[in-house]
Amino acid sequence: MADTTKLEIGAPEKPDALMEICDDGHPGGRNPSKVALKDLKAAGFSKTPILRVLRAKCIDCCGGILSEVRACPITNCELWPYRMAKNPFSNKKGNAASFGNLKKTLRSQQ
Ligand code: SF4
Repeated sequence: MADTTKLEIGAPEKPDALMEICDDGHPGGRNPSKVALKDLKAAGFSKTPILRVLRAKCIDCCGGILSEVRACPITNCELWPYRMAKNPFSNKKGNAASFGNLKKTLRSQQ
């Protein structure tokens, strides 16, 4: 019988602290919110703005070719609106509509 206490499945650089034995008896990734920060850092993760994470995933998806990310035609992908590391729904910054709204707000306060 296989020794399931040793988790050797997955990328070898990922330490066992990120893995667990799932309910079905197979090894799987742990819930990241339950992993100690020191273990996440040891695995090479760091606090990163989520839009940068999404952009990195898109770059990976396109084999590192930035122009492919820019021209991505997969408009039904959940990441598609965020692939340029901007949130088009944000009221804070990044789109013309939000700047227009900001101008209106500032004018109304004068
Ligand atoms: S939006 Fe395009 S580039 Fe980004 S993950 Fe989806 S398919 Fe890949």
